[in-house]
Order: sequence, then structure tokens, then C-alpha cells
Amino acid sequence: MNFQARQQKLAVRLREARVEALWITHLPNVYYLCGFSGTAGALLFLAGEKKPNLFFYSDGRYAQQAAEQVKGAKVIIRNKPAMPDACERIKKAGLETLGFESDHLSHSSYAQLRKSAPRGTRLKAVSGTVEELRAIKDAEEIEQIRAAALVAGSIFQTALTAIRPGRTENQVAGELELAARRAGAEKMSFDTIVAAGARSALPHGRASVQAIPAAGFIILDYGVILAGYCSDMTRTVHVGRVSQAHRQMYEAVREAQQASIEAVRPGAQAGEVDKAGRSLLKKRGYGEYFSHSTGHGVGIEVHEAPRLAKGQTRSLVPGMVVTIEPGIYIPEEGGVRIEDMVLVTESGCEVLTPTTKDLIEL
Ligand code: ZN
Ligand code: ZN
Repeated sequence: MNFQARQQKLAVRLREARVEALWITHLPNVYYLCGFSGTAGALLFLAGEKKPNLFFYSDGRYAQQAAEQVKGAKVIIRNKPAMPDACERIKKAGLETLGFESDHLSHSSYAQLRKSAPRGTRLKAVSGTVEELRAIKDAEEIEQIRAAALVAGSIFQTALTAIRPGRTENQVAGELELAARRAGAEKMSFDTIVAAGARSALPHGRASVQAIPAAGFIILDYGVILAGYCSDMTRTVHVGRVSQAHRQMYEAVREAQQASIEAVRPGAQAGEVDKAGRSLLKKRGYGEYFSHSTGHGVGIEVHEAPRLAKGQTRSLVPGMVVTIEPGIYIPEEGGVRIEDMVLVTESGCEVLTPTTKDLIEL
């Protein structure tokens, strides 16, 4: 991974925003900037005039891992809070502005930062700056995400063979997750969703102890993490004979999803992509049953920038990886969602999820 390029980009952004240093505590941002994948660490990022200067802090448990993983930052291992040392460096460098990640720093950590910050150093809330960089993936990241999407696709068949009326949703999720591990996944991107029968009307129906009924939709929404990068996909299948009404529901979601995919291209606004699918569902009479936004960015985190939602004016840029996942959820009846990962390319987009979207009857 080209950490140097990322660090340079952030330095430019911070200089533009007149932030001389940034205290980075959000671990996905730390991972992005210097490669540390552990669960305790923080980064002091000095933008510098020409070249950034980075200090990575962790404790003794992570000494070896930090030495192996951290790139482009001086590693400081302390079994004491890092902040006073970081503030000492700010003081020595004579910096006037220290940014902190206002979306992530807890209130008590902020209070501590205020206490330790040198006199005359102004604290500045910084929101979304590293996340903005992360929204546009470089070639290596795209390859990782592509690989994660392929692994998720490759275990879909296993999930299907695990589905049988009488088995619980948890058992199906377990089979799926075992297959993911066997295929090389580090872990799942999030708690696997297996929502069967009436529970398929819950957009976030995490697998439960409920048994698969003899007939109805089953939503499978899952993803794997490979080398720190997530995938995320959803397919809806049907157990038992599909009624005319259920087939109509499924086809409407499929067409809406296709309409949104076709709207993905550089320069398109996120809200337009949402609208393409949403208006199709409205036209088919399902408007009120599509109760969430169309998609989100995927990368180091399974939900990251950009958001594809109603009214979002942000333009899509080549290198973004987003999900397209419209759905219909009819209470007590059931639900359908289809989700692919899509890469924004120079000329349009490429669907990364390899799995069929034909309605599968089990
Ligand atoms: Zn999903
Ligand atoms: Zn998703």
C-alpha cells in the first residue's frame, strides 16, 4: 500500500484547512495512513511545510505488531497515555493549531486534550477529512476489495445448500461464516443477516434462533474482510413456491437496482443514483416500502463515505466503491433486497459482486 502518497494527500488537505497537526484516533483512519491494524493506537500527524511528519503511539502489547506494520511514522511505545507526549511535540514544534477528529474523539478524551494542549495552541474540530481521502480508492485497494467481493460471492452457494425449512437462521449464518473462513476471510464485515419469512421485512434482521419457514423470502446480507478491506452483498431467495405477488416484488427490486446501477458514473450526484431506483419502485406502487437509502461506500469500514441517499449532491468520482441496495419491506409479509458492490470507473461503473440476481427458488 502506498502510505506515503496518502500521507502527502492528507498533508495538503490540512495545510489548505490551516490545520498544522491532526490527532488521529479513529482506528480505520490510522490503518489507512500507516498500516497499523491493532486495536489500540493513535497517530499524531504534523502536516509540515513540505513533508508530513508522523508519530504513531501504542502500548507494550503492540510493540512487535507496530514495528512490523507501521509505515512512514515514528513508532512510540508507552504504557502511559500518549496525549501528553503528543502535546509536548506540538509545543516543541511551536504549532498554533491542533486538529482533532470531532466525529470520533470521546468527550473525556477531548477534555484530556484540552488539559494537555500547550498554551496558545488552538484546538480545531476536524470532520471527515481522512474519510474523504478514503472514499476514493487507489489501485491496490480496489484489488483488495475486488478479492473480498469475489470471496463473498464464492460462498453464496454454500449458504443456499444450508437453507432448509426447520433449520434456524443462526445455523445458516454459521455455515456461511465457516465457509468464509475456509475461503480465507479474516472475519465477517458485520454480523451476518439471515432474515427468513416475515422477518425478511426487517431491513436489518440479524440471524436469529427463528426457524426457516416452509415458504417465503430469505434475505442473506453479509460480507467478508480480506487484508483489512470489506465486502458487502445481499441476495434474496425464496423457499417454496413463489406467488405472483412475491415475484412482482422481486422483479421490482431487481429493476430498481439495475436502474440505480445504470445511474452510477463519474459526475453523477449520489442523490440521482438513489432517485433512479426509488422512482421506479414508486411507479410500481412500492414507494412507501423502500425505507432506507440506496447505498454507501465500502472499504476499510463496511459503511463509509459517500452516502447514496435522497438529496445528496456529492458527485461520484472514479475509484469510489459503493453499494447499490434498494429493497421492499412489507410488514408481516416479507421483504426483498438486492445489493451489489459497484466501482465507479472513468466511463461508468463496474459491478464487483459476481453473483446471479435471478430469483432462486429452493
Ligand atoms: Zn449489506
Ligand atoms: Zn450495505
